[in-house]
Amino acid sequence: MKRRLIIVQAVALLLLALASCSAKPEKSKVTVFAMDTVIYLEAYGEGAQAALDEAAEKLYFLDELLSATKEDSEISKINKSAGSFVPISDEVIKQLEAALEVSRRSGGAFDVSVLPLVNLWGFGTEGAHVPAAEEIEAALQYVDYGKIGLEGSSVRLAQGMSITLGAIAKGYASQELSEMLKGRGISSAILSLGGNVQAIGSKPDGLKWRVALRDPVSAAETAGVFELSDMAAVTSGGYERYFEQDGKVYHHILDPKTGYPAEGGLISVTIVCDNGMTADALSTALFVLGEDKAIEYWRDYGGFEAVLITDDGRMLVTEGLRDSFKKSGESYSLLYVTRNGGDKCVKYQTGR
Ligand code: ADP
Ligand code: MG
Repeated sequence: MKRRLIIVQAVALLLLALASCSAKPEKSKVTVFAMDTVIYLEAYGEGAQAALDEAAEKLYFLDELLSATKEDSEISKINKSAGSFVPISDEVIKQLEAALEVSRRSGGAFDVSVLPLVNLWGFGTEGAHVPAAEEIEAALQYVDYGKIGLEGSSVRLAQGMSITLGAIAKGYASQELSEMLKGRGISSAILSLGGNVQAIGSKPDGLKWRVALRDPVSAAETAGVFELSDMAAVTSGGYERYFEQDGKVYHHILDPKTGYPAEGGLISVTIVCDNGMTADALSTALFVLGEDKAIEYWRDYGGFEAVLITDDGRMLVTEGLRDSFKKSGESYSLLYVTRNGGDKCVKYQTGR
């Protein structure tokens, strides 16, 4: 059996360099490795360095609290205590509440109780491999967000269940940091946590932050550029963490219905939303839902915009991004998704 493990912590969204400007306020920055990814924070103005140092500490703290692989994390404690109620922190309550809402709205496409499947597939380890169909069947019986009992500040999982906040924690962290930095008087900053970017205000020169969307097929290319202020942009893609076995690629975003990597025809999903945590949960949920249901979700609930790249070369952009997203290159044909298509009948308008 030919097996090759590839873990690429690729950065789906890249910050584009600031144009030089003479009277620029001082730039402060910090780079940390936490939450399994390289995190880069940049802020401007008085007190920015101290605020970023505090932000870095907070990231290490959240990593210890939220990791599904660290033995002493709160998530590991919840998992080890499946069957009984465990008191949990405000940080975990907030994420579970948001996760459960997206689970309900997506009909279970998003489900933090996928950990038994993630472990079975071995994503993120040297032992990543395609499990036997019976093993997947067996693990699937423990995947059910409906059996997560959240009561006040305690949670209880049914016996055999385990959870991971892998699809929401970085977005939660960027949202928290953004609020903390604003509270310290920072009005211009950009936070980049792997595929999660969150902009505070605009660039110090008053123009919007420019964030590039990586081409999911040709890693060195840019598929488009967002112009953002006070907004998060989060990308989920099958190309970010995956392994190859017998010539087939298996990525880390799982369909909780089948137990296999989601195959909804999308290869990259970016959500633009004023809340980083919501954006993170939705990027994973819409990736699993696939084209038609993802668009239905956007039409039904709104509150965010999206760029979906399909495996047949289309780039579907929700109409709220007409002014703030520009496609780059000719690899994809751009179509705008409009609100008035009706539930079943997906209507696009061609764009350039
Ligand atoms: P990344 O963490 O690479 O930025 P995502 O935000 O899409 O990407 O999260 C993927 C991670 O979430 C996986 O590594 C896994 O731990 C977990 N996960 C996989 N499938 C699902 C799912 N359907 N619902 C919720 N979490 C998932
Ligand atoms: Mg996510």
